Amino acid sequence: MVDVILKKGKEKAVLQRHPWVFSGAIERVKGKPANGDVVRLVSAQGTFMAYGFYNDKSRVALRLLEWNEEVPVDEAWFRAKVADAVNARRHVLADGENNTCRLIFSEADYLPGLIVDKYADHLAVQVLTSGIENNMPVIIDELQKLLHPKSIFDKSDASSRQHEGLVTENKLLWGSQPPELVEVKENGITYGINIAEGQKSGFYCDQRDNRCILASYAKGKKVLDCFSYTGGFTLNSLKSEAASVTSVDSSALAVETLNENIRLNNFDAAKHQAIKADVNSQLRRFKDDGEKFDVIVLDPPKYAPSRSALDRASRAYKDLNRIAMLLLNDGGLLATFSCSGAMDMETFKQVLAWAALDAGKQVQFIHQFCQPEDHPVRSSFPEGEYLKGLLCRVF
Ligand code: SAH
Repeated sequence: MVDVILKKGKEKAVLQRHPWVFSGAIERVKGKPANGDVVRLVSAQGTFMAYGFYNDKSRVALRLLEWNEEVPVDEAWFRAKVADAVNARRHVLADGENNTCRLIFSEADYLPGLIVDKYADHLAVQVLTSGIENNMPVIIDELQKLLHPKSIFDKSDASSRQHEGLVTENKLLWGSQPPELVEVKENGITYGINIAEGQKSGFYCDQRDNRCILASYAKGKKVLDCFSYTGGFTLNSLKSEAASVTSVDSSALAVETLNENIRLNNFDAAKHQAIKADVNSQLRRFKDDGEKFDVIVLDPPKYAPSRSALDRASRAYKDLNRIAMLLLNDGGLLATFSCSGAMDMETFKQVLAWAALDAGKQVQFIHQFCQPEDHPVRSSFPEGEYLKGLLCRVF
């Protein structure tokens, strides 16, 4: 196994078990590992520090896996990590109301670059590092043994694959082709998931708990669900007997699937309308028309892909929230989210404070949203915390 020597003074993060080593922290590579090989990271003094995946195409040249020298990173190691992650999710699925969740969440589950989502009897995987790619035969075998899925579909179309020199994939890895819409249950609500054509792996199961919390405020209310995708917040609000729900999304496929989901659940279509539009323009149209709502959900895509984009993203979040505040009835609720890892909760609160000031409104934060248990945050990898939200009462 190839030794990779760390620069002197760069030991701290490794000792604290942060899983990333940037190329700039590497002194020397003894030999010529292939991308995706497991290598030994040693200190400048030559002592063992960790095993990790090597990739010279990525800024993150090493993704650390194991800090105990006695524990080899072999087939049994990958099987154990997959089984640990899958078994930890049994709790999410235990109540019979859910058969979809994230089974494996990359670094948080000690498998950097592997995401596995369960959609009833089907699995969708994203393979984002060459190290994971090399070990997929064992990982697929272990997933089959543990879960007996009908299909395992590779949905590795994330842009992060490019940083590892990998191409986009959208193909069946195992089993039979999943149906165009796989029916799943979340919080007792049925969703059709288009794994091959949908966004990311097909569904945003990271909002499961937050959809429930929001729905508990929806009864009898006029709800506006912005960036609705296939209707997570919309369907939960309808289930909670919202007076009406308007959903807005710019994707035609998302709107089509959302309307199909309304039918699948036999919800009253007369209480719902889906608008295919850009949210920013639509909110301005509502304002011009004097339309008001009791509850507004804002769940936009990631505005800040990196820390350097934070300033610009903060202005975009502020503007979006400002206009939504203007559309609320007095004392109305704004459930507003950011899935940008670079934006922490304190900064997000600040953005909301600016938005309120510009809108001439007062805001009370009445609940803080976060990511659910199947998207855990490892204490040594705070970068894994990305989803945050605030439930605001706006006066
Ligand atoms: N709230 C959703 C997930 C939102 S994902 C749920 O609970 O499942 C973000 C969504 O924003 C995507 O569906 C995407 O199509 C949509 N989107 C992105 N930019 C948009 C824009 N400018 N206007 C409207 N929708 C947009």
